[in-house]
Amino acid sequence: MHEYTVNLHMHTTYSDGTGSHSDIANAAIKAGIDAVIVTDHNVWVQGVEGYFGDDQNKVLVLVGEEIHDQVRSPQKNHLLVFGVEKELEHLAADPQNLINAINKNDGLSFLAHPYDPESQTFGEENLSWVDWDIDNFTGIELWNSMSEFKSLLTSHLPAIFYAFNFKRVARGPFSQSISIWDRLLAKGKPVVAVGGSDAHNLLGKLGPISRNLFPYEWHFGAINTHILASAEFSGDPANDRTLVYQALRQGHCYLGYDLPASTKGFHFSAQTKKDSAIMGDTIQLKDSPTLQVKLPQTAEFHLLKDGKVIASYKNRETAAFHIDETGVYRVEVYINYKGRRRAWIFSNPIYVR
Ligand SMILES: [Zn+2]
Ligand SMILES: [Zn+2]
Repeated sequence: MHEYTVNLHMHTTYSDGTGSHSDIANAAIKAGIDAVIVTDHNVWVQGVEGYFGDDQNKVLVLVGEEIHDQVRSPQKNHLLVFGVEKELEHLAADPQNLINAINKNDGLSFLAHPYDPESQTFGEENLSWVDWDIDNFTGIELWNSMSEFKSLLTSHLPAIFYAFNFKRVARGPFSQSISIWDRLLAKGKPVVAVGGSDAHNLLGKLGPISRNLFPYEWHFGAINTHILASAEFSGDPANDRTLVYQALRQGHCYLGYDLPASTKGFHFSAQTKKDSAIMGDTIQLKDSPTLQVKLPQTAEFHLLKDGKVIASYKNRETAAFHIDETGVYRVEVYINYKGRRRAWIFSNPIYVR
């Protein structure tokens, strides 16, 4: 497996962002990101996919879309769409219809910011997902950087504080989003979790202060989705794009908050005498699996089964855990940073059936 850092969910001037695709590419190269997936609102931008930069420093720019029904009020049910290669915005009114069309076109679908509280101070509505009578989507955006920022904007003062202290914003996925995920997983089908930046390169006016609130580059150093690709990137955009989407589809990925420390190298797997599995995979209980966790550095981590903590470790780097029950197993890792305990890594599950 080959690990790559992907930043996904961001906006350009094609919708409500303030930068271009090449601004994004330059910021991603500076931040050391391997691939980005740009998702403008209700427009699939054609003709910009590919590698940006030079041989030494390059980034793969992929283009998806964030689709929601613009007629609906309030404008809920935002869906991230990857790998479809055509405009499907006209299907936004019926989320299941839209998901079916995405599947027909071999695309991927992630419920964007499934829980997204309002910010009265800034007139930002609650944009949570509400139509739960849906099926066959790829997964959810468990951690969204902008939603979290919005939730801290209780008045102008904290807004100004966090605009100047980006490093103090991220704490972890909302507990409501985690509950949504665990509830969906309990239905018996895999649900892939990803982390999104929702980067807009926001130019904000906070009273007398006018500044770039959240440059793309900040986001690219923060909440990323680390994929485990089945082969090394070749440098051919079409080939590498397939590797990215394959890994995301299979849940061969984890969420990493890379600002406190790089999460690269995180490892969660299952071994049996005859088989092994990584995040996103299914393994058989009858083969008596052992789960293995390895962190890039010591931290506090928890092993969860069906949403409940079954083992906790402090100041540890590795752990092995023998499994004797079927269930959905996943790992949460926490780190102390800027005076607070913060989420550092959320794994995708290993399914023991
Ligand atoms: Zn959205
Ligand atoms: Zn967005």
